[in-house]
Amino acid sequence: MKSTFDIAVFDGDGIGPEIMKPTIDLLERVAQQNQFQLRFDVVPAGAGHFSRTGESLPSRSLDVARDADAILLSAMGLPAVRYPDGTEISPQIELRKELDLFAGVRPVTLAPGQATPLKLPPDRRIDFVLVRESTEGLFWSQGKGEVTQDEARETLVITRETSEKLFRFAFNLAQRRRQSGRGRGHVTCVDKANVFRAFAFFRGLFDAEADRHSELTADHVYVDAMTLWMVQKPWLLDVLVTENMFGDILSDLGAALMGGLGIAPSADIGENHAVFQPCHGSAPDIAGQGTANPIAMILSAAMMLEWLGQTHDAPKVEQAGESLRQAVESAMASGQALTRDLGGEATTEQAGAAVAKLLDGVAA
Ligand code: ATP
Repeated sequence: MKSTFDIAVFDGDGIGPEIMKPTIDLLERVAQQNQFQLRFDVVPAGAGHFSRTGESLPSRSLDVARDADAILLSAMGLPAVRYPDGTEISPQIELRKELDLFAGVRPVTLAPGQATPLKLPPDRRIDFVLVRESTEGLFWSQGKGEVTQDEARETLVITRETSEKLFRFAFNLAQRRRQSGRGRGHVTCVDKANVFRAFAFFRGLFDAEADRHSELTADHVYVDAMTLWMVQKPWLLDVLVTENMFGDILSDLGAALMGGLGIAPSADIGENHAVFQPCHGSAPDIAGQGTANPIAMILSAAMMLEWLGQTHDAPKVEQAGESLRQAVESAMASGQALTRDLGGEATTEQAGAAVAKLLDGVAA
């Protein structure tokens, strides 16, 4: 069984390096506890690198990412550093396209005691996953939009090939969640098929995949209605699958339900590669203060271990991911890992240390 994994690390811009540090420390700790090795290769990319060198994603960094078993990425981009056409530097979007990371996985969970703006009935739990297509949709048009004096156009692209892979992924995820007792085996297609032909096409491909899974259930919800459902009845949701732009917006709503961007993890997964990164950006407004919340980054790292364990049939690596997630939940519930954005006073370092302490407890 494989027991050494190569991880490409992009620590990026703004708060990126600050939240990556405790995350690497925790990964090393949990790997040691579970007797496997992680070899980290930290590579440059992002807005800071672009302003120094004129390159946002050096080819060596891309090669290291391509050769790695998994990619850990904090946050990239700075509002003041832009390409000549005015768009922001976002190598994470280039990586998604280069490595064909079509499935953006955004879990939305509320652990006991976790603050949420919702008034949830006491017996309700939130545990659902948003799967955002991440290589096409409206983002296909990035950098290709046409703007004249009087008109601007962007194109939305939905392909059969990517949609079929995406829906297969979503149904397999629902199956795994049902087996582990975390979901009821239900997939919802989020679209706008009542207005756009492209979404009717998307929905048709979804229905074809649903027909192959008699053990699971499926339905469709228009994206505007889904924003209501996520706020009014989030406990009914299990796996949601949607187009890139809709997913971009809904994932921030999901993060808000969890109590903020600082605790929302994510993964971008393809057939051969995967990137794990928090939902938030580089938060330049708080960079350098040591107060950034590292939890979303740490939970993304836990997702990485779970994915590595599943794809390499390595149960102890998957178990390490579960231990790390549990340690985060306990540290949050104890109040010791609450940074300023969550109403607490912990620094980035203290939040990481609180998780480490509980991780030792989980492992003992
Ligand atoms: P992007 O477009 O790159 O996703 P964004 O414009 O959505 O970025 P973020 O960088 O995510 O913006 O920051 C949005 C707000 O959330 C900022 O006020 C920032 O300070 C806050 N924020 C984001 N991440 C964290 C974090 N890890 N800890 C504390 N605050 C955060």
